[in-house]
Amino acid sequence: MTNTAFISHPDTLLHVMDGSHPESPARITAIKNAVHASNLNKKLQFYDAPAATQAQLKRVHTSEYVEYIHNIAPKAGLVRLDGDTAMGPMSLSAALHASGAVILATDLVMAGKVDNAFCCARPPGHHAGRANSAGFCIFNHIAVGVAHALAHHQLKRAAIIDFDVHHGDGTEDIFKDNPNVMLCSTFQHPFYPHSGADSRSKNIINIPLPAKTNGTDFKKVFAAEFKPALDAFRPEIVFVSAGFDAHIHDPLADLALTTDDYVWITEFIKEIAKKHAKNRIISSLEGGYHLASLAESSWAHINKLAH
Ligand SMILES: [Zn+2]
Repeated sequence: MTNTAFISHPDTLLHVMDGSHPESPARITAIKNAVHASNLNKKLQFYDAPAATQAQLKRVHTSEYVEYIHNIAPKAGLVRLDGDTAMGPMSLSAALHASGAVILATDLVMAGKVDNAFCCARPPGHHAGRANSAGFCIFNHIAVGVAHALAHHQLKRAAIIDFDVHHGDGTEDIFKDNPNVMLCSTFQHPFYPHSGADSRSKNIINIPLPAKTNGTDFKKVFAAEFKPALDAFRPEIVFVSAGFDAHIHDPLADLALTTDDYVWITEFIKEIAKKHAKNRIISSLEGGYHLASLAESSWAHINKLAH
């Protein structure tokens, strides 16, 4: 019997960059509709996310950056943070609750109230670095959760598995010199954000993949690269940057995963967590822009977490 939390917040639907932006509230609605259209909702414990505090954010972001985001948040209209990322009147609240979702997930898992959790919130987080927004991301939610697990729950080893199609450059920026954190990241290369191919280290296991890489090759990478690294690291908790934009139908990228591949990846992560981390898994939504494929893949991921 696995207990799984599903954590979201109403404000996650109110962050709107512009009408045609692919990182849209419809992504969350698609996932929630898929969960509620099946019996999966009976297996889940639903929680509203709290807002992350400034102190929690400042464990991974600079004070100046956290204060800049709070100060620049508009009362009306849009402000542009970078070429891909903008804030409207509800964007700060959405971002704070998306980070808070991962904080709550960490607390629930550490208290033993659930085995694992899926944070269904946006904007995504893994491109946000120590002092910068990027690629639709304002705060790095997974990093905020990892830092909370280390600082508040006093864990010594946290792993992050990032299977989003884009390199988790913000997460790498935050943890590259931290021996308490291992980041395992697969990503299309060469591709946005044009980083990660040359920065592999003892705790940063970056695997660049050429366009058209399919599930068969993806599984080989997980088995040959991530498994031995994670077995040697022995994480006490496993975080997941769960982007579904490596799906073959995704309009923003060119990898070729199918929904079944996400089931396999989730099973792999569960085996790592069972072996080393008392089943503790905290998964947070990153990318995924083909709504039907996002709904199907994230449903399959959450369903595998919950069974
Ligand atoms: Zn992505």
